[in-house]
Amino acid sequence: MKDENLDDRTTLNAEQITNLLKVCLRTTYFVFNKEYYEQQNGAAMGSPVSPIVANLFMEHFEETALDTRFRFWKRYVDDIFCIIKSEFLDESLLFLNSLFPSIQLTSEVEKNGSLPFLDVLVSRFDDGTMKTSVHRKSTHTDRYISYNSNHAPHVKKGIVKCLVRRAYNLSSESSLKNEIDHVRSVLSMNGYPRSIVDKVKNELKKKKKQVDTTTLNEDPVATAIIPYVSTMSERIRKILWDYGIRTSFKTKTTLSNLLTKVKDPTSNENKVGAVYKIMCECGDFYIGESGRALGIRIKEHKSACEHGYFTKSPLAEHVWQEGSHVILWNQVKLLDFSQGMVERRVKEAIYINMSPNNLTMNRDSGMELSPLVLRAARGHSHK
Ligand SMILES: [Zn+2]
Repeated sequence: MKDENLDDRTTLNAEQITNLLKVCLRTTYFVFNKEYYEQQNGAAMGSPVSPIVANLFMEHFEETALDTRFRFWKRYVDDIFCIIKSEFLDESLLFLNSLFPSIQLTSEVEKNGSLPFLDVLVSRFDDGTMKTSVHRKSTHTDRYISYNSNHAPHVKKGIVKCLVRRAYNLSSESSLKNEIDHVRSVLSMNGYPRSIVDKVKNELKKKKKQVDTTTLNEDPVATAIIPYVSTMSERIRKILWDYGIRTSFKTKTTLSNLLTKVKDPTSNENKVGAVYKIMCECGDFYIGESGRALGIRIKEHKSACEHGYFTKSPLAEHVWQEGSHVILWNQVKLLDFSQGMVERRVKEAIYINMSPNNLTMNRDSGMELSPLVLRAARGHSHK
């Protein structure tokens, strides 16, 4: 493999970069019960270089592993959707798992011609066609912020947008109507007016024409933070967008902000070693852990959201991609806390794994846990 224009980007050569990477990957240690431990296997959790290395490794894995038996293979991080003749399944799984001891795959087979992958349910038919629809875990409650609750109108509209957009993005033509009907009835159950779905549908269609050419995945030229004044602020945002400037709206004083200060806000802010949950108005949430004071970590998330720094917080990516969703900063939940890093990461991973997949913004499920631990944790939570 040759990187043609490496010299344009850095004065380091490939060997030097490799050596630096080795330093980053091999000098990971952590403290547990006042003893120092060195990590022997795998990339360090939380290190910015880890996801890149993991992805490079998976690409290498795929180059070694894939042959004509796998008629279709798509991977998202460590979830793979694959089409293979059923008679090859067992031997292929054995083969894949024999390649690298650290990569052990498990398989889930279609049921009645359908198989969920991430948020999508893929179904196949006898004539060889396939269709996709929105997949909801059986534990999903279909409960959203009530239309009658005291939230700004754009907050409630954001929920409708999120659901309608998901319907369009994930549904085949034939399942779209069903999904939109579902969204309609769920919203009406939560008190939303009947007309709101069509209103949002039309707005999204109009907007799609405008933004098709631009992409959100670049870092902004600059960020403007302005107070939210209905309709005016959106206009300013549109104008600035054309110049590559992202606008974020300062949360104004709402009744809920004033009323929810019953608890002493400093009591949790100073907690060190928290496992926490930050929620968005739409019901999605992020679970994290930090060895520093919770208040400081939350401030970092806030700043990432305001400036659109996706790499610094998955919350930022969510806020920007969903189009000005509002994060419920004053409802951050302290799930658990622990001074020991390993213990904290185990707890974090348990909380992530026990949450419905389609609601977490977490990009991975944290520390790898044995299925036994997860089963024990799930059993515990039922009691
Ligand atoms: Zn949201």
